[in-house]
Amino acid sequence: MLPVDLPGTVRDALLAPLVDHHCHGVRRDDLSRAGFELLISPSGAPAPPGTTHFDTPLGAAIRRWCAPVLDLEPHTSAAVYLSRRAELGADEANRRLLRAAGVMAILVDTGLESAELLSAAEMGRHSGAAIDEIVRIEQIEQDVAEMAQAAVDYLDSLAEELAARAARAVGMTTVIAYRCGLGFDPSRPTRGAVIAAANQRLADPKARLTDPILLRHLLWAAVDVARERGLPVQFHTGLGGDPDVDLHRADPARMTGFIRALQPIGVPVVLLHCYPFHRQAAYLAAAYPHVYADVGLALTHTAAGSARVMDELLELTPFHKLLYSSDCHGVAETCLLGALAFRRALAGALKWRIEAGEWSAADAARIAHMIGSGSARRIYRL
Ligand SMILES: [Zn+2]
Repeated sequence: MLPVDLPGTVRDALLAPLVDHHCHGVRRDDLSRAGFELLISPSGAPAPPGTTHFDTPLGAAIRRWCAPVLDLEPHTSAAVYLSRRAELGADEANRRLLRAAGVMAILVDTGLESAELLSAAEMGRHSGAAIDEIVRIEQIEQDVAEMAQAAVDYLDSLAEELAARAARAVGMTTVIAYRCGLGFDPSRPTRGAVIAAANQRLADPKARLTDPILLRHLLWAAVDVARERGLPVQFHTGLGGDPDVDLHRADPARMTGFIRALQPIGVPVVLLHCYPFHRQAAYLAAAYPHVYADVGLALTHTAAGSARVMDELLELTPFHKLLYSSDCHGVAETCLLGALAFRRALAGALKWRIEAGEWSAADAARIAHMIGSGSARRIYRL
């Protein structure tokens, strides 16, 4: 599975079970070809007539690497792959693909839960991994907004709900990048401004929250809870798995002011996916002691090209600030391919450092363990 020969200790470190510190559920039902294709493209739309989303880096990787897990030859056609997947059934295909990822613990972002997706507990049963929860603060806000009668109730319930849900989670996550962008005013909004915004919010509580004042209030309220409980806060940045992002507003460098404001508080800030701003994330992780980064689904989606992304991430990021996640979502293939691309890309990066005499094999093995599981255990206290 690894693309290069490495000393035994380094190989073992790369193949050791991973901690996947950010992922979502996968579909429990048997998918049609059209349904499957929608889930493997960040476009959320069908490929243009006469083309297919299998003609992408991720599509090619599914045919190459997932086919053998379903007892097929590598590079099998998309049609044969999907018909074998249907023959096995979603349950068995999910079980095989999730297990093949070689993951010992999965931290599930439960903010996207729906009846169509495996729950966190089911993800654990299928993968054989331990499961912990990451709570999504915008989802908590939505639940509170739909119940609250008045602005003061809303604010009280929001604080209570954040504390209650965080009590059973190992971290919190925010999608503020996709709601108002990361260039938000880093200060806490005033109570007067928040009450006025909450009154407007409650006039249409089912709408998606995009008001920057309430988003900032929510984020600071989450930071208060995170500080009290010693939890990291994950930020979705850069590419997401769907077109629901203005990419230029999701550059993590835009939130430098907020990162600085959090430094004295000490809450770890975890920058998720980051691509194509992973060099900015690397700088932030190097410059601020509480900032961590991963490239998440960027490795899955760049697939055969993921070694370059990994190399760029490793240029500057302190090794103890790097984490692994698949950000898997929708289809279990993305869980397996995230882990596979991570191991293969890191193997290549370690190989040349050892051969050039830059790192000893012992350094390479220690750092592979650190990125694959050690740092996640440390900051999420697993
Ligand atoms: Zn995510």
